[in-house]
Amino acid sequence: MLADDIKKAAEILQKGGLVAFPTETVYGLGGNAYSDDAVASIFAAKGRPQFNPLIVHVAFPEDAKEIVSFSDTAELLVKHFWPGPLTLVLPRKDTRISYLVSAGLDTVAVRMPSHPVAHALLAEAKVPIAAPSANMSGTLSPTSAADVKASLGSRIDMVLDGGDSEVGVESTVLDLTSPTPALLRAGGVTVEEIEKVLGTPLLKPAASHEQEEVNVPRSPGQLLSHYAPGLPVRINVLEPSSTEAFLAFGDSVGNATLNLSPSGDLKEAAANLFRFLRQLDVPEKYSGIAVAPIPHTGLGLAINDRLTRAAYPR
Ligand code: AMP
Ligand code: MG
Repeated sequence: MLADDIKKAAEILQKGGLVAFPTETVYGLGGNAYSDDAVASIFAAKGRPQFNPLIVHVAFPEDAKEIVSFSDTAELLVKHFWPGPLTLVLPRKDTRISYLVSAGLDTVAVRMPSHPVAHALLAEAKVPIAAPSANMSGTLSPTSAADVKASLGSRIDMVLDGGDSEVGVESTVLDLTSPTPALLRAGGVTVEEIEKVLGTPLLKPAASHEQEEVNVPRSPGQLLSHYAPGLPVRINVLEPSSTEAFLAFGDSVGNATLNLSPSGDLKEAAANLFRFLRQLDVPEKYSGIAVAPIPHTGLGLAINDRLTRAAYPR
């Protein structure tokens, strides 16, 4: 029975497991947004070579209001388009949301899906669910449970079958953190519909987000959504200077300020990455952040991608 499956899926999510579930746009690969470990598992399962911020899915607008600070514009848009394929990027309010979800940013993207199975699952799980599309990185977004099984198969704990997704394109993503709402990604709700409700045009930056897979920025500052520490970052460091914070990895190094994973586990390192960078980003205490070499395999690709951007001269 579907109701039993939903209950089982909610329990898996609460325990930190991964569940693919139907939404009206595409199937999502869900994990508990409070858990760094669950979110790291999402990236590991997708084989995504980058940490892009993920959308946090909620059952009710009230849940979103606990996660982010709503503005009048957010209220207006939610009244018109939720539940539905519209994602809003707003200032983070809830510090329990994993920083890996927001790729280190002080903003969080939230959405309330309209698919009845997604809604039932989110209501039952009672925790916010981070979910990108449920496909291997670089492959087509999945619109059926069969698509998900073919792509991610045994890499996840459960696929909740809710039939085919109706929209088939991803949600529209709007950045509401500056005075003029900006389109970050075109999607299920059209620009015209949104502008009609707002009564003003959206900002449409030339470098607005496409599918994350083709999103190769030429410099780290170019993407609106890229967190970089305020302190200078050096990577592949074996010997930090006496004034630098040292972010270590593995057990071969001494004098670590923090260690991403003493046992050399890349998933643990991914789960800790943004939280630790933020903890070390203290100009009053350190002259910079030196990071030990990270193996370039598995999640190490995404970790190194992010560190390379953070270390790019500014
Ligand atoms: P996906 O998870 O594949 O549906 O993609 C999520 C989209 O939302 C990507 O384009 C992200 O860059 C964007 N996004 C999610 N969170 C944020 C955020 N905090 N700031 C800016 N963009 C975001
Ligand atoms: Mg995707």
